[in-house]
Amino acid sequence: RVLVIGSITCDVTAFADRLPGRGETVLGRELTLVLGGKGANQAVAAARAGARTAMVGHVGRDPFAEIALAGLRDNGVETDQVTPVDGPTGVAHIRVADGENDIVIVPLANDHVDAARVDQALAQAEPGDVLLLQLEIPAATTAHAARAGHEAGLLVVLDPAPAVELPESVWADVDVVTPNETEAAAITGETDEDAAARWFLDRGVATVILTLGGHGVLMATSGGSRRHDAYEVEAVDTTAAGDAFTGTLGATLAAGTPLAEAVPRAMAAGALAVTKPGASPSLPSATEIDTFLEQ
Ligand code: ADP
Repeated sequence: RVLVIGSITCDVTAFADRLPGRGETVLGRELTLVLGGKGANQAVAAARAGARTAMVGHVGRDPFAEIALAGLRDNGVETDQVTPVDGPTGVAHIRVADGENDIVIVPLANDHVDAARVDQALAQAEPGDVLLLQLEIPAATTAHAARAGHEAGLLVVLDPAPAVELPESVWADVDVVTPNETEAAAITGETDEDAAARWFLDRGVATVILTLGGHGVLMATSGGSRRHDAYEVEAVDTTAAGDAFTGTLGATLAAGTPLAEAVPRAMAAGALAVTKPGASPSLPSATEIDTFLEQ
């Protein structure tokens, strides 16, 4: 089973022919309201990739909560542990024009995910479950979840996105870390990929997987490192490639598949996600991933 403790948003996306300049108003063409948030996207990716997946987090008490919950449920994610708090649901306010976008994320309900919520969720977890964590909820909560998950015998996977400051002690509780190049550099201060991987290993992370977009991944353990080239696909929209990767990795590890096999499957999911526009709508199903891998 995969347990995701993380962010849930309603993504409000306005599409226009060009982005407005400062203080300017432009007319748009379309508006969509869909489930988003790194936590929720990775939960959807894990469920679509075939794992029994539960989301843990908060929505608010507003119409956006229904949109977010329906998005999780429609994709087969269990939502018993998504509880409402007073106030609004988290929002990502996105503007898209001509292949460019800008985003304002307002955490709102996500800021209320705390240690007590984590402990309640982990009380129902079992050793061998995969715990997927990201950094769109308070960093202290994520650090607590890593510690408690580690102690409960879960496999702790941390996607350190967006890169925020974390207590140094967190790394010893992390089994697998999956930063992209930008996040790895921001966290470690190292722009060299091998040096960044070494930084995480030195602090107690068992397996480092640096995702390098169209350049594939660098995977490192204390036993050595190896690179995997990306699958060649026609990139349409790279949004959510990382979420497809990490969610699928979690789902595949939860099925008991060893890392050496889980990484190529996660890379296939990342590659498939870039062939379609959007975030959660672009996340591939188990069938799509397995068909792609057989080609
Ligand atoms: P993020 O979205 O977090 O920045 P990446 O862009 O590194 O993450 O993508 C995650 C993984 O998805 C990559 O390691 C790669 O395997 C796959 N991927 C991403 N972009 C492409 C691409 N253009 N072509 C093929 N695979 C890709």
